[in-house]
Amino acid sequence: MAPRRFTSSNHIPPEDVKSTDTVIVGNGPSALFLSYLLHGNIPTYDSATHGPHPDPVLHAKLSRYGNRPLFDAIESTRACEVMTEHFHAATYMSYSSQALPLNVLLDTLVQPGADTEIGEAKSRLRWSFDQRRRIGHVVLGSAKEAGGQWSEDPVSTSWDIKTLSYAEMLSLPGYSFREHYRRKHGKVMPDLNRPTRREVSNYYSTYPRAVGISSEVFSSVYVQRINRTQYGFSVKVYRMPTPSRPQCEYTIHCKHLILATGIFTNVIPPPPIFLPLLSPANNTLYQQQQVKTLPLLVVGSGFTAADVVTSAQPGQKIIHIFKWNTTRPSPLKACHSQAYPEYASIYRQMKQSAADSTSPTSPTTSSNYEGFPNAQVIAVSGDGRVIRILTADGDVVERTIGTFKYCVGRRGSLEYLSAELRKAVGVLDAGWVSADTLRRRVESDLEVTKNVWVIGSLTGDSLVRYGFGGCVYAAGRIMADREIPEDELCSLDDAVQSSASYSR
Ligand SMILES: Cc1cc2nc3c(=O)[nH]c(=O)nc-3n(C[C@H](O)[C@H](O)[C@H](O)COP(=O)(O)OP(=O)(O)OC[C@H]3O[C@@H](n4cnc5c(N)ncnc54)[C@H](O)[C@@H]3O)c2cc1C
Repeated sequence: MAPRRFTSSNHIPPEDVKSTDTVIVGNGPSALFLSYLLHGNIPTYDSATHGPHPDPVLHAKLSRYGNRPLFDAIESTRACEVMTEHFHAATYMSYSSQALPLNVLLDTLVQPGADTEIGEAKSRLRWSFDQRRRIGHVVLGSAKEAGGQWSEDPVSTSWDIKTLSYAEMLSLPGYSFREHYRRKHGKVMPDLNRPTRREVSNYYSTYPRAVGISSEVFSSVYVQRINRTQYGFSVKVYRMPTPSRPQCEYTIHCKHLILATGIFTNVIPPPPIFLPLLSPANNTLYQQQQVKTLPLLVVGSGFTAADVVTSAQPGQKIIHIFKWNTTRPSPLKACHSQAYPEYASIYRQMKQSAADSTSPTSPTTSSNYEGFPNAQVIAVSGDGRVIRILTADGDVVERTIGTFKYCVGRRGSLEYLSAELRKAVGVLDAGWVSADTLRRRVESDLEVTKNVWVIGSLTGDSLVRYGFGGCVYAAGRIMADREIPEDELCSLDDAVQSSASYSR
């Protein structure tokens, strides 16, 4: 069937075939920002509003492009290299050496000195709207609200847990977290604000309406299968039923494909020994009420395990099994006690447990917390209530437990790509992906195979602030591919004068 023209409305009829230029799979922060760009919001280097960028070399390089869109300055992998190759030696700024240079570039333009300066970002980008550069696209995400993993909670931790990043670093261009806070609370957001997950989720779900992209953002929608076709890609989509809409399946044809499905969708399941702890027969409502007062078993050494411990009811007894390596004990070690008191406190308890296990005479910590570094569960009773633990010292101890959380990590999946496409992007087997999986590929080009780009945490740069570069690069390439006749595109000099131009 010939693809029909896609209409940008939220009411996709069932069993239909549509077409659009670009499909973005995933509805997390990177997908939302890319949609903002594809709507025709064009970034340009701005050295006037807050002065030149504090890195004089970068300022000189960007100034050569005058009022031309930033897309031109990073139009190819070579252009990106030229723009960023001095970063490692820059003396004026301390640029991240972990993130992709392209992502570091956008981070420093959106918020120069983010790590050292407090307060509202002094962005060196000016935004202008250019209707002619608008690209037909859809954002398709399984999360029930825009915001991706921020509107999901596969581990069932508290929505009141504070984020690791300060609010500014979770902001997207076009509508900042600061502005959202002011609109919601009617007052200025305090500096160094670590918002709760609930607040961040609310910010991202509001973002599409605030910046005018909501007609292209579809939530509760699963992309099930993508094949390469003669003209581009066919995307099979399943929409979850909601109280106001029935479920439906449809196919979208597109020319460009963006993978923005992240690396946090699937919780790594526990090994089979833990199965009795998860069995529904052992978790009836009656049993849950009986075991409420029994300890919570938490397995894991990172932030999610710490979030589970923090989310526990006051007085809840915790049994915590975690990996502990003296040279690289836990990611929580990096948490300063003033900035992250909750994580620092759990780290102290873990450290004390590790000290106790090697020197049994040292005092034990809080009576509600019992830590077992480098221990192993070697048996679980059939009713899932009693576990046998082999400690690092070689002792075997028994504990009765009520509930269980296994928090050793999450991963993404590219199973929705056909086997041929998975092979083309360099992912084999079931398509599981973590931060390292696509890293080598994206380091050489974010276009991992013809007309397929990877953005967001799938690139291995998982922080929101380091997700912008990939989006601007992909948007520029897709816009360039549209082959707009030269005379239709007036220079941005004219556009800046004739259309709304704004700095954010
Ligand atoms: C617990 C936790 C705390 C974090 N805290 C911070 C923080 O404080 N600061 C920070 O900067 N970053 C933090 N991160 C990192 C996180 O990666 C980023 O904040 C951000 O969410 C990455 O955005 P993304 O666009 O890559 O996509 P994600 O937010 O990962 O969203 C991708 C979405 O795509 C969906 N999806 C997957 N497959 C399909 C499919 N087949 N069809 C449709 N949809 C699909 C997923 O379900 C998911 O909802 C945290 C991550 C976690 C897990």
